[in-house]
Amino acid sequence: MRKIRNIAAAGIAASALFALTACNSGSPTGETGGEAPEQEVAEDVALEGSPTYDAMVERGGPVIGVKEDQPGLGYLDVTTGDRSGFDIEIARWIAASLGFEEGDISYEPIASANREQALVNGDIDYYVGTYSITDQRKEQIDFAGPYFETGQGFLVSADSEMTEVSDVSDFNGMTVCSATGSTPIQNIKENYPEIKTEEYDIYSQCVEDVLSGKVDAVTTDAAILIGYAAQDPDNLKVLDGLFTEERYGVGIPKGDTALLEHINTLFTDGGDTWQEIFDSTLGQAGIEIDQPAVDPVE
Ligand code: GLU
Repeated sequence: MRKIRNIAAAGIAASALFALTACNSGSPTGETGGEAPEQEVAEDVALEGSPTYDAMVERGGPVIGVKEDQPGLGYLDVTTGDRSGFDIEIARWIAASLGFEEGDISYEPIASANREQALVNGDIDYYVGTYSITDQRKEQIDFAGPYFETGQGFLVSADSEMTEVSDVSDFNGMTVCSATGSTPIQNIKENYPEIKTEEYDIYSQCVEDVLSGKVDAVTTDAAILIGYAAQDPDNLKVLDGLFTEERYGVGIPKGDTALLEHINTLFTDGGDTWQEIFDSTLGQAGIEIDQPAVDPVE
């Protein structure tokens, strides 16, 4: 995979250090601290020709696939039962735009490797969780968006001598950990045969392995890694250097163009909502990025 340095990615790299310092005094629970905007629940929604929406109405609410171990993005506080993060607020915004209250929503935690199948099976209506738009995934499902852009980075123990990564091959001979079925693990396996890999369903297990010294690094999207480092800045750090371009989309069942266009219109005509959601979640970690334009419908 080609190494891409885009403006958005560079922005994240530059602010990552600030994020780590800024979050030293932050909550250890993974809450990002901001007050998410209240979403106005739409009335008289008419979404013609969307079988997914029809199923949501019949059921009395959407089933949304999410992550729940990614602080700042998709996080479940097991003591309070509260869900927080940028992806969760995007998911809530979509639900409200379709006429559903928070109490109508069922959240379904789905690991990276199982997302397409969950959508194909109809187990979930849509998925919001650090889900990169790729051509391979588009063979099975559709993506609304993108609604965020980041790139592949590396998280190491705070006492590691490394401070930056100039090329992914810097990890040759070392062991890096990532989630099964994710784009970062595919990148490593396909393009860097001299890097050893460890895989789990979820990234928090990789973080445990960095803390215990079992692996040298966790690799995935920088936005995810910054969330883990912010939770435990004494023991973890994100290295400078971003690779690949990860554009997050909302996964929806293939062929539901009405739902796809509804979500894209929400992102395009949503006024300040995207910014308010961002400021109350990832923005709290010092990340600076603009909302990307949505892709044209193919
Ligand atoms: N954005 C990447 C992907 O969709 C990595 C994060 C994840 O596993 O959710 O594969």
